[in-house]
Amino acid sequence: MSIPSGARYRIGGVEFAVVSDGTYWYDAGAVFGVVPRVMWERVAPPLDERYRIPLGLNCLLLRSRGKTILIETGVGGKPGDRDAATPAEDGTLLTSLAALGVTPEAIDIVVNTHLHADHCGWNTSVAPGLDAPVPTFPNATYVMSSAEWHDATHPNERTRATYLGRNLEPIAERLTLADGEHAITDEVIFAPAPGHTEGHSSVIVRSGQEWGIYLGDLAQHRAQLERTPWVSGLDVLPLVSMETKKRLMDECIEAGALVMFCHGPYPGVGRMTRTPEGFRKWEDVAPLAHEHAEGEDHGHSHPHPHGQEHA
Ligand SMILES: [Zn+2]
Ligand SMILES: [Zn+2]
Repeated sequence: MSIPSGARYRIGGVEFAVVSDGTYWYDAGAVFGVVPRVMWERVAPPLDERYRIPLGLNCLLLRSRGKTILIETGVGGKPGDRDAATPAEDGTLLTSLAALGVTPEAIDIVVNTHLHADHCGWNTSVAPGLDAPVPTFPNATYVMSSAEWHDATHPNERTRATYLGRNLEPIAERLTLADGEHAITDEVIFAPAPGHTEGHSSVIVRSGQEWGIYLGDLAQHRAQLERTPWVSGLDVLPLVSMETKKRLMDECIEAGALVMFCHGPYPGVGRMTRTPEGFRKWEDVAPLAHEHAEGEDHGHSHPHPHGQEHA
């Protein structure tokens, strides 16, 4: 299969690439929550035979102030990580980074918007010949909110299926726990965006007059970004999530901010706009042309200006 890794974008002076950990198949009813199926099936992609929809696993690789930063680490590749979720050969984050010439050792900072299993799987991995998981990125510190770390390490009956010790315990000595807003660099700001979980955060990239936002799990489908009451069934604080969404989407529309969407179809980058009737609308943004691409475009003479938009 082809490895989606080449989509590059720029916010002011910060260039970044979207790297994917493949596709995550998840129960469509859980994603759309209380929204009736007759409404969401008009906008959802085709379900598989187990009533699951495909979700992207778009992570960001960016460089800022001399730091190499990886935002989100997908489902992972350890034993058990992908069995229920999605095919093992689909765990492409490390190969996607390698295609850009980036080794695990080169990552200085890993950022987790929250610690659900589809966002932090590659935080750790099991090396050949070893039994126990170790940090995948041996030189990295891991940034997350202190509330999220607390909740993930004290799971309840509902959350323990997704807060997995194997993604968390090996990195316990390498944490930067944020209380409130936290500047990773002066261009990359980790900021609370509660609702999906209490400690859920987004990442704002700001340079010059421009900014963009990596949403984390503010939504799993673009229709949820467009429609205010469409709140994910996975959110633990759905009304808080709705208010966070309204606030962030209004700010993005007003500023023309770039929106980086974890679970959208690759590369999941767009802008929120407003229709003449006043409705919010997602518009895809094409990657930059491949003028800086190095060694990744074999046998592929044309750039791919429109990404892969199938939804
Ligand atoms: Zn989540
Ligand atoms: Zn998710």
